[in-house]
Amino acid sequence: MRCKFVDRVTWHTAGSGTKSRVCRLLTIATLSLATAGFASNGLAQATPSAPLHSANVAARASNAQLADPHIEARVDGLLRQMTLDEKIGQLVQYSDTGDAVPAPTAEKAGGLAAVNPGTTYHVNTMQLAAAGRLGSMLNLVGAARTNTYQHLAVEQGRLHIPLLFGADVIHGFRTIYPVPLGLAASFDPDMVAAVSHIAAEEATTAGVRWFYSPMVDISRDPRWGRSVEGAGEDPWLGAAMARAYIRGYQSDDLSKPGSVAASVKHFAAYGAAEAGREYNTTDMSEITLRQVYLPPYKAAVEAGAATIMSAFNSLNGVPASANPFLLNKVLRGEWGFNGFVVSDYTSVMELTHHGIALDAATATRKAINAGVDVDMMSHFYDVELPELIRSGQVSMDVVDEAVRRVLRVKFATGLFEHPYAEGVEITSAVPEHRPLVRKAAEESFVLLQNDKLAGGAPLLPLASAGKRIALIGPLADNAEEMVGAWGGAGTSHDIITLRQAVTERARRAGGALLYAKGTGIDDPSQAGFAEAVQAAGAADVVVLALGESSSMSGEGGSRAKLDLPGNQQQLLEAVVATGKPVVLLIFSGRPLVLDWASKHVPAIMEVWFPGTEAGNALANVLYGDTSPSGKLPMSFPRTVGQEPLYYNQFPTGRPPVGVDLSKAPTGQERFLSRYIDVPNSALFPFGYGLSYSSFAYRDVKVSRASIPLAQALANRNTPLVEATAMVTNTGSRAATEVVQCYVRNLGASIEQPVRSLKGFERVTLAPGESRPVKFALGFNELSFFNVESTPTIEATQYTVWIGGSSLADQGVPFDVVSDPATTSAR
Ligand code: BGC
Repeated sequence: MRCKFVDRVTWHTAGSGTKSRVCRLLTIATLSLATAGFASNGLAQATPSAPLHSANVAARASNAQLADPHIEARVDGLLRQMTLDEKIGQLVQYSDTGDAVPAPTAEKAGGLAAVNPGTTYHVNTMQLAAAGRLGSMLNLVGAARTNTYQHLAVEQGRLHIPLLFGADVIHGFRTIYPVPLGLAASFDPDMVAAVSHIAAEEATTAGVRWFYSPMVDISRDPRWGRSVEGAGEDPWLGAAMARAYIRGYQSDDLSKPGSVAASVKHFAAYGAAEAGREYNTTDMSEITLRQVYLPPYKAAVEAGAATIMSAFNSLNGVPASANPFLLNKVLRGEWGFNGFVVSDYTSVMELTHHGIALDAATATRKAINAGVDVDMMSHFYDVELPELIRSGQVSMDVVDEAVRRVLRVKFATGLFEHPYAEGVEITSAVPEHRPLVRKAAEESFVLLQNDKLAGGAPLLPLASAGKRIALIGPLADNAEEMVGAWGGAGTSHDIITLRQAVTERARRAGGALLYAKGTGIDDPSQAGFAEAVQAAGAADVVVLALGESSSMSGEGGSRAKLDLPGNQQQLLEAVVATGKPVVLLIFSGRPLVLDWASKHVPAIMEVWFPGTEAGNALANVLYGDTSPSGKLPMSFPRTVGQEPLYYNQFPTGRPPVGVDLSKAPTGQERFLSRYIDVPNSALFPFGYGLSYSSFAYRDVKVSRASIPLAQALANRNTPLVEATAMVTNTGSRAATEVVQCYVRNLGASIEQPVRSLKGFERVTLAPGESRPVKFALGFNELSFFNVESTPTIEATQYTVWIGGSSLADQGVPFDVVSDPATTSAR
């Protein structure tokens, strides 16, 4: 197990449930009694139906299944029988403490436990489950253990309400696919939906019915370690990925076998943590919030996400886990979200550290009144709510509504009918899933550089016959580190390393492989350098596998430096000094600074953390069975001081046009928006990535030169203009290009980014083949948020570019005009 589970929570994965079938029958019988409205003792509270509930259900519902009247009737029936303690029980979530109250952790002196006593549990979760006072559990996986708890809840609990088991399944359960930032580089939502679904299929066999995923936080600063968990810097790409995850996890029916409920996180704007420092504050205009940070969450909600997780950060001074603007106004009011909101881990307790609550009671009141339904791990709701309700500081209606939201999801997921882990538990990577995760890995790789060698051909793909390859670096044969942050329940023995895969390839090709580790990932010793240099010297070509460890990104993985860790840069320089051609593979959970490498290494490929099939996918691409097709979802800086660096920035009053930014300014050149010591631009920009072929764009056109404003405002759902381009594969091999469409809006009442992605499509072309690619642009693509935070279109000028990166330079204008009389054909 990886990451924080080591010190905070242990996933229970042993064994599989054998009793589940018999007990299921028993349970269904008892559950139908419970849900048919039979109160079994006099403790049940008569609960008037909550006004909040009817208002929410009547509103445009984001998930139709959760609004089903049959489910509502069952919720009503159950709620009428519940005691206050049972209701509060549905609103609390703990990880497994077993049948005892555990002692405080040894971390006391420092670390999380010092600021966060919630991590030193106070409860006996088995007792709570049996008493019907526990609603859901966190990161407890495995059929045997989840079934043990479920038996307690459904057989001993008075109302037999099943537990919902949630887990951080972020990029695979047993069969691991690339980290989400790598998946985003594929620009392939269908593939993302497909791999997400296999994770759901695998995890449900281990009792998990709820994923704390997808993380859809926009990240414009790679210092933030959690950049690895999201889709990068762009809202359009982020929204497309968000929809894909929901489709993959939930399918079209939450109750289908192999479906799980998603928890979209972390609401909201967690990715804007100042200076990229984990858990830090965020502060931004409402326009930026709505235009840049909210779109992926909104897309996920519109796709039917069943739950949302409220974030750790504060937003403009109000912590997200007590933020009525975010949770009640935007999420529920504007978007019609009808699932439930779970707090992030102890984020209710952390309201006291934010300084907006002096005590636990205030933190609880603020969180639940703001719309946080479930308290993950704080141990505040269960302790504080009874008195808060008695004193009227929290109304019974608010509590009832929160319970309703939780129960709706439990009914919709079919948990009452199928409470136990079903089928044969999957305990290792699934052979049938390997081809798909291998494809995902291949699509995630981004070829950053592929210079021609003296003979005239680019270094990659490797010529396969008779080559002596030196494979060097701490990530070349490191199964453990192929997984990346949040590696689910994947284990290293299932992983194919690059060394394993290339050894096999080299043997088949009649070549030889020389391997040297060279150094560790973060190791000051140069003891292995000599062997590495010797291997390089004896080879025709060197493949260097360098980068970060999995734990250098992910939660708590913020870095102030973006260089290669340890002494890997020195190793790189020593190997390059041999004069042998070097292919540099970068394993990382974020953009790194590759400035030196870009000047001295002919071929560079960003490979993120590829997962179970890492080695096979890398070998397939290195040897040219597949051409790389990934494009960067985040800009790669020249130096860390450029951060936050993103392509869709606002213009400035002093744009640095007409000057060479690679040179120090002279005279008036300094009074432009620039640095005196480094260019403004990214080293490798958003949307950029090479292939083994090449592509040309021509005939970029729009279907009309002007659009009457009245029409633009009246037609919210139909395209207003179509942009097209002809794309040709100008190389000598079949390859896939991610065609991208960018838009700029000039002359609006609010300044708009220098360009913004508004569409993309993966296009596979044979050598010499051309294909027209179309992008429909409507209100969604052309509107922006005005000072009233309302999306609108004004009579302004637009430019649309179509090309292979955010630097696409073939653009064509069109206008939105206020007076139809002024329209003209362009
Ligand atoms: C993380 C969440 C995660 C939760 C449960 C938190 O610390 O921020 O992303 O889902 O823990 O493990």
